[in-house]
Amino acid sequence: MAKPPAPKLDPRGRKVKILATVGPASRSPEMLARLFKAGVDAFRVNMSHGEHADHAETIKSIRDLEKQFMRPIAILADLQGPKLRVGKFRDGQAVIRHSGHFTLDRDPTPGDETRVELPHPELFGLLEKGQRLLINDGKIRLRVISADADKIHCSAEVGGVISDRKGVNVPDAEVPIPALTEKDRRDLAFAIQQGVDWIGLSFVQRPEDLAEARKLMGGYGALCAKIEKPMAVRRLSEIIEMSDGIMVARGDLGVELEPQEVPPLQKKIVNETRLRGKPVIVATQMLESMIESPAPTRAEVSDVANAVYDGADAVMLSAETAAGDWPEEAVTIMHKIARQVERDESYLERVRLLDTPPDATTADALAHACMTVADTVSISAITVFTGSGSTARRVARERPSVPMLVLTPSMKTARRLGLLWGAHAVATKDIGSFEEMIAKGKRMALRHGFGEAGSKLIALAGVPFGTPGSTNLMHVVTVSGDELQKHGG
Ligand code: PGA
Ligand code: MN
Repeated sequence: MAKPPAPKLDPRGRKVKILATVGPASRSPEMLARLFKAGVDAFRVNMSHGEHADHAETIKSIRDLEKQFMRPIAILADLQGPKLRVGKFRDGQAVIRHSGHFTLDRDPTPGDETRVELPHPELFGLLEKGQRLLINDGKIRLRVISADADKIHCSAEVGGVISDRKGVNVPDAEVPIPALTEKDRRDLAFAIQQGVDWIGLSFVQRPEDLAEARKLMGGYGALCAKIEKPMAVRRLSEIIEMSDGIMVARGDLGVELEPQEVPPLQKKIVNETRLRGKPVIVATQMLESMIESPAPTRAEVSDVANAVYDGADAVMLSAETAAGDWPEEAVTIMHKIARQVERDESYLERVRLLDTPPDATTADALAHACMTVADTVSISAITVFTGSGSTARRVARERPSVPMLVLTPSMKTARRLGLLWGAHAVATKDIGSFEEMIAKGKRMALRHGFGEAGSKLIALAGVPFGTPGSTNLMHVVTVSGDELQKHGG
């Protein structure tokens, strides 16, 4: 008997997804198209910068791309969150002396080298002696000597240039300000109205922050919690529970904590999120030097590769694509690194170093079975039929060796899966019967390059169709010559 055809590769030649931030360097329709072609699966719109009008245009351009390439694309609107900032300076900036003193107060008079306004009343009476204030991404480090209701006196352990509205981190205190500022609420309403797929919530401290966002989202969109506060790390498991996805936001995390604390945390956050079957994104400074240079450092290449080996669902580019000189090159390099890692014969073994035992549900038992069947016989793809995407998440959680074709009647679900490991989502019409499902599965597999005559597919679905959480059927089918003919028509 002839050997079955070799399993197909995922269409992008990798399972990890690429999330790229849009900004002035990339928001033209031409550049967005180039980035998509180079490998972007999902775009991040950063609400910390730019006007709603610009963002609306970006979102429209991305939706146009979907039509042009006939592929769903995920959009994540990232809310700025309660980012603390100092006030303004008389000369726009000032120099804080090393080992000198510096005071933060409530006086809006422009600051100088001895003091500046801290326009966040919540912090007065909260910060205590010995706690740290980190300014400008941690470049300036202040320690509180004494604090009262009006003034916070600090000694400068590391001084430097401070300028208007620079960011402040207070890693040692739980700040009693809501996770959503007035600006965030406006941005969130805008993002939902624009139909984005994911909302990113910055500086999450407690599970309640997510509950609040969820309420405002009113059932639209998926919620991604950015882990960038020590408080969030302490309550990680509850936060993952409340989220649809997680971002390892290494930029602020490395300021709020010591930089060397970030790598072990990255592994912990990736593993815990993977265990729950939710997508996890590794973000920030992945190819940082490519903001200015067309080639990355070896260390950056290793960093991206290691995130892929850890089994992250997605890797993210920030300023590299938003404001850098080499946005397309950065995506291309990231794409190449991911493909190379995933071709390594030790890749799956390493990804599966994390044991993900199935929950005691029929859906999980079947998702697990898909993985073992695909490891045992030559399968060209797992075809998952899902409404909400939950079956796809449970299959991806097993990190199967073969591509996963996700067929869903929901365009929203198809787009949202742009951040899920290994999911190639296609929005299709609703399916009425078992026969129709199998026929459609075979046709779509052929159309999207997942099989040829003689290929075996796994079909995973819940019958009756349209009942959420009903996954109860796994079927192995062989693609025949017939579908090949029908495929033409
Ligand atoms: P940001 O989040 O780019 O919005 O700050 C990511 C991070 O802090 O790493
Ligand atoms: Mn951040």
